[in-house]
Amino acid sequence: MKIGPICRFCEAPLRQTLVDLGMSPLCESYVSAAALNRMEPFYPLHVYVCEKCLLAQLEEYVSPAEIFTEYAYFSSYADSWLQHSKVYTDMAIRRFGLDARSLVVELASNDGYLLQYFVEKGIPVLGIEPARNVAKVAIEKGVPTLVEFFGEKLAEKLAAEGKQADLVIGNNVLAQVPGLNDFVRGIKTLLKPGGVATLEFPHLVRLMDENQFDTVYHEHFSYFSFLAAEKIFAAHGLTLFDVEELPTHGGSLRIYARHAEDTAKPVDARVAGLRERELAAGLDRMTAYSAFSEKVAETKRKILECLIGIKREGKTICGYGAPGKGNTLLNYCGIRTDFLDYTVDRNPYKQGLFLPGTHIPIFPPGRIRETRPDYVFVLPWNFKDEIIDQLAYIRDWGGRFIVPIPEARIHE
Ligand SMILES: [Zn+2]
Repeated sequence: MKIGPICRFCEAPLRQTLVDLGMSPLCESYVSAAALNRMEPFYPLHVYVCEKCLLAQLEEYVSPAEIFTEYAYFSSYADSWLQHSKVYTDMAIRRFGLDARSLVVELASNDGYLLQYFVEKGIPVLGIEPARNVAKVAIEKGVPTLVEFFGEKLAEKLAAEGKQADLVIGNNVLAQVPGLNDFVRGIKTLLKPGGVATLEFPHLVRLMDENQFDTVYHEHFSYFSFLAAEKIFAAHGLTLFDVEELPTHGGSLRIYARHAEDTAKPVDARVAGLRERELAAGLDRMTAYSAFSEKVAETKRKILECLIGIKREGKTICGYGAPGKGNTLLNYCGIRTDFLDYTVDRNPYKQGLFLPGTHIPIFPPGRIRETRPDYVFVLPWNFKDEIIDQLAYIRDWGGRFIVPIPEARIHE
């Protein structure tokens, strides 16, 4: 007998659907030309909300070891993300008084895109990154990196070696750990008594308000409101003492956690402010979540309406980018080479491969100049301003941009 899904934080049975996007391939499993005729595994993308703790989540269909050990995402390929990281570094050094005696540990440190700025300032760092190919790039840049998955066991080992951290950073990783409790317990163990952890993750409120259904993919196991995040950290002896709302990834939260015992750091008024706003929006009740499915279906209809209209005029469309979110969107909407002739990506690792599921070919960006498409469909819409700037030259031949989220819109 199949036992229904249970909450990865509180183990209550999951009954409330947030959105069911059907079956999709793993969004980072780009397909080589040689593999195009082979079977491709598809897994459900069905997001539930826990009625007890409010954590929105996917079941763990695929283990992180399958997803993250060879990963095509290199953070350093996005200019605005680098800028965001640099600004963060300066803020953190100032606010937490970090210097050559401190230790900064980043969980899922990717290619060293962030820790490099601490290294520049002479502050000791340690990156933890499970994807070997990505960690290698960081190490070559002079960012010491352990090729490991983070959890309590690793935290205990580091603590035993005297490597507790003044600052633990986790950017876009909390959503990606299936063992959420083990991960947060690990942060508790890794932090020095007066240490601080900052974590950034997409804010569920923005996801719902702005139809960002494409940020749902198998690599994202959890989707957090502030209410849910507070509960989870509190359960492991960590207090959220500040929170910022950031524009990154379509709207993220940056939470600041400290040991519950460390009362020297007062809780900022922003914490109560955000909590109140989420309660006022009804996020502690299931009715707030039940309308989202229909909103997503309508967003899909609008995207298809836009693309069908363009194709009926005999115009050409190409994609820009090959991000994970693009793959959810294209697979859910059923957009293949019948709409997009190809897509381009700056990441050489992806060029020459095909998008999972839809098998749209990925070329270097220069392809756009060569083929002069009428429309460029911007898949990483969270970087749309940067991309529209970079591709301003398509206006020379009357090219225009399509941004699909929050709803399909044409930009001149
Ligand atoms: Zn729960």
